[in-house]
Amino acid sequence: MKINIQGGCFCGKIRLKAKIEPISVVNCHCDNCKRSVGSPFVTWAVFKKDAISFNSPPPTHTAENRAVRTFCESCGTSIAYWHPDRKDTIDITVGCLDKPDNYPPNKNIWTKKRLSWVQNPDDIPNHEAFP
Ligand SMILES: [Zn+2]
Ligand SMILES: [Zn+2]
Repeated sequence: MKINIQGGCFCGKIRLKAKIEPISVVNCHCDNCKRSVGSPFVTWAVFKKDAISFNSPPPTHTAENRAVRTFCESCGTSIAYWHPDRKDTIDITVGCLDKPDNYPPNKNIWTKKRLSWVQNPDDIPNHEAFP
């Protein structure tokens, strides 16, 4: 079966393609994800880094912990995350994928930071921090 996973930002300026399916899909409840995306948690599709290509490299922001996040400079959409300690993977916000319904989460991480009013499926593994 031919893989055709695509996605992009809200305004369409940044587009991405994945040539293989994600390794996993993770709900991250860490405070940095909350703040950078502006939502109560973020669902990330975790891909092998060389599986993802962009139409043009999105601008990046590097945090004190060296985590790199990318965004569209025109519409502000949060698109990707990677960390130098995990060189082989890149996380893409599931909401940026063209078919997010195909990618339900299979793991919760940083649940010790989960907001009290957020209900996530409990039939997937929970990790208090980064596993
Ligand atoms: Zn945009
Ligand atoms: Zn996070």
